[in-house]
Amino acid sequence: MSERKSMNPHKLKPTDRKYRRKFYGLTFLLVFTGILIVHLFIPGCEKRQNERCNVVLILVDTLRADSLGCYGNKRQLTPVMDRLAQDGIKFDACFSASPWTLPSVASIYTSRIPSAHRAGKNDGTFKFSALPDEALTLAESYQKEGYFTGAVVNVDFLSAAFGLDQGFESMDFFGSMTNQISRSASETTDAALTMIRNTHPHPFFILVHYFDPHLTYNPPAEYRERFAEPEDKTGVDFVFGTRTQMINLRNGSIELNDKLIRRLKALYDGEVAYTDHEIGRLIDGLDALNALPNTMIFLTSDHGEEFNDHGGFEHGHTLYQELLHVPLIARFPSHWPSGKTIPQTVRSLDIAPTIAEAAGIPIPETFSGRSLLPLITEDDQTESWLPVFSEGNFWGPVIYAWRSGNFKLIFFPSENRTELYNVSEDPLEHNDLAPEEKERCDAMLQDIRTVIAPYSALEQSGTPNNVVLTEEQKLRLQALGYLQ
Ligand SMILES: [Zn+2]
Repeated sequence: MSERKSMNPHKLKPTDRKYRRKFYGLTFLLVFTGILIVHLFIPGCEKRQNERCNVVLILVDTLRADSLGCYGNKRQLTPVMDRLAQDGIKFDACFSASPWTLPSVASIYTSRIPSAHRAGKNDGTFKFSALPDEALTLAESYQKEGYFTGAVVNVDFLSAAFGLDQGFESMDFFGSMTNQISRSASETTDAALTMIRNTHPHPFFILVHYFDPHLTYNPPAEYRERFAEPEDKTGVDFVFGTRTQMINLRNGSIELNDKLIRRLKALYDGEVAYTDHEIGRLIDGLDALNALPNTMIFLTSDHGEEFNDHGGFEHGHTLYQELLHVPLIARFPSHWPSGKTIPQTVRSLDIAPTIAEAAGIPIPETFSGRSLLPLITEDDQTESWLPVFSEGNFWGPVIYAWRSGNFKLIFFPSENRTELYNVSEDPLEHNDLAPEEKERCDAMLQDIRTVIAPYSALEQSGTPNNVVLTEEQKLRLQALGYLQ
C-alpha cells in the first residue's frame, strides 16, 4: 500500500527534500509570474508600479470640439492638442451636461447632472446657487487618498464663492476686474507649473483652467489676425466682447452680420491657437520634471461657443451641439493605447469615474457617470453607451435635452414645446423633425421626465444655497457680461 502511494507521480515523498524544494520553487515561480502578468495588464498605474500616478485635468473654457484639428478642423489651430490625441485616446462624441460654466464644471467634478448637484442659477432671477458642501467631488476623493490637490482657475464660477473649491488643497484663483485683464494662458501655464514643481514628486491631482477662448476675444498680437481673411486685416487692434459691446449686441445696436461673425470667429481661432501653444508649454514643463510618464492627462471643455449656428452668439442660451459637443482626450501612453478613437457617445459626467478608476481610488456612490476605462483599454467597440442628458439656460427658463441613439430631443418646458433631430443624418441639428415624429417625441419626453423626477422636490423647495456675491464679485461678473 505504502509502496503504491510512493509510486503516485502526483505525490512527493514527504521525506524527499530535494523534490519538495523543486515543487515549492516551481509553485513560487508560477505564482510570481502570474502576479507579474496580472500587474502588467492592469490599466491603472497604481497597481502596476506600486506607485501612484498624477493627474492633470486641463479644462479649456468655451472650446468647441470642431476647433481642434483632430475633430476635423482644417485651419491648423491646435497642433498640440492634436498630438495629445495621437499619443492617446480621443472621444469623438463627448457631450457636456450644461451650456455654461458653473453647472457644467460642477457636473464634471461631481459626476452628477445639474438638477442633482444644484450648482447653477434660478430661472430668470440672476441669483446663483453654489455647489452644496455635502456634494462629493473628484478632488475630495483624491484628497482623502493623500494626493496633493490643486486648481488654477480664472473665473469666479470656479472659485470658493460657488463651492467649486471643494477638495482642492490649493486654489490659485485669478478673478479679473475687467474681462480685458484676465489671466492669460501663458500666465496660467506658469502658475500651473509652479504648483506642480512645488509638489512633485508627491503625487498630485491638478486642474488647469484656461479661460482665453471665452469672451473677450483679445488674443496676443501674433494670433490676432493670423486666421483673419485678408479683407478683415485692418492693421488696428480688434477686440470683441467688452461689456458695452455685449450689451449693444443684445439690444440690437450691433448687428450680428456675416462680416462680424467672420471676424469674431477669426479672433476666437486666435485664442484657441494661443491656448494650444500654452498647453504645449505645460506638457513640456511636465516632461522637464520627468513627470510625464507617470501622469495621466485629460483635456476637455465645459461648453462650446455659438457663431450664428442657430441664429445666436456666445453660449449659455441653447442646447444645440455647438454648445454641448466638447473635446475629450485622455493620454497615458505607457498604460493606454495611442491614437485610438472612441466613437461611442459619452458624457462629461463620465470623466470623474474614469479618472478615479484608472488611479485606483474609490469611486463615490454619488457619482452617476460610468467609467470610460473599458472603452479605453478594451477592443470591444460595439457596446452602446448611455444617453446624454443636458440642461440649463443662463439667459432664461430652463431647457432640457436628451440624446439617445440617433435622436436628440430638446424640451422647452416654459413653452411646452419640443424639437427633435436625427443627429446621425443631421449632426448640425437644423432639420426639426418634431412635427412629424410625435410618438418618438412623447417617448423621449417621458425619458427626460423620468431623469428629472427625483429632483423636482428640490426644485420646488427653492434654491437652498444661494450665493451672496460681494460687490467685487458682482463687478467681475458684470464685466464678463453675466450680470445686468
Ligand atoms: Zn465656461
